Amino acid sequence: MKYIFGNWKMYLDYKQSVELANSLVKENLKNENVEIAVFPTALAMKDVTDILQENFKTGAQDAGHPSKGAYTGMISAEMYKNIGCTYALAGHSERRYIFGETNKDVRAKIESYLDAGLKTVVCIGETEQDRNNDKARYRLAKQILRAFEGLNFKEGQIIVAYEPVWAIGTGNACLPADAIDRIDFIKSEIAKYSQNIVPVLYGGSVDENNVLSYFSEDIIDGVLVGGASAKLDNFTDIIKNVLK
Ligand code: PEP
Repeated sequence: MKYIFGNWKMYLDYKQSVELANSLVKENLKNENVEIAVFPTALAMKDVTDILQENFKTGAQDAGHPSKGAYTGMISAEMYKNIGCTYALAGHSERRYIFGETNKDVRAKIESYLDAGLKTVVCIGETEQDRNNDKARYRLAKQILRAFEGLNFKEGQIIVAYEPVWAIGTGNACLPADAIDRIDFIKSEIAKYSQNIVPVLYGGSVDENNVLSYFSEDIIDGVLVGGASAKLDNFTDIIKNVLK
């Protein structure tokens, strides 16, 4: 199984998310060898999940780690699960670097998503500064250690997305050869903590023109797409290029 995930971030409001979901359904892009999921705003999650149910899965962009209680403003993993969500992202770089989430926070989210029965997409990646200081492997190894050491999970419950921070939303995608090298490293680091197969996706400025250079590589289990997934034509072209 390979994966195409679309993170709609805060690009689309409720109405636009529902419109995009309705348009995607009409494209009839279902394929049994490729799992497609979109990550809409929480406001539209229920409607988008209901619209896409026969075609694509949905996932939360983020969820709070307490499951219930006096946590003003939060939505728990369990709540997303209850309305039909399949996935949730943990540790997206925008959560880490804009909202200050630490590896400890990310780990707490991973555990709460697993408890709730959501498949967890753990996002990791080096910053530009890490890359310039030859610290990319150090950063990835640390994020993997904190996410996986002693973690109890079954095969199929976790996917990792390798998303170099310098490639996200910049149009400066990682060279496929470099993504392969990093993903090879990531898989060998994860193997230190778990015998389970953990698929690893590439994310960072993926579009309809470059998607195949990642997707066609055996070691890359799919792509996590941000900006281009929030536009009907770009996202359908990405999917069609992969499926043809
Ligand atoms: C992302 O936000 O996960 C992402 C990969 O964004 P973009 O495709 O816009 O770089």
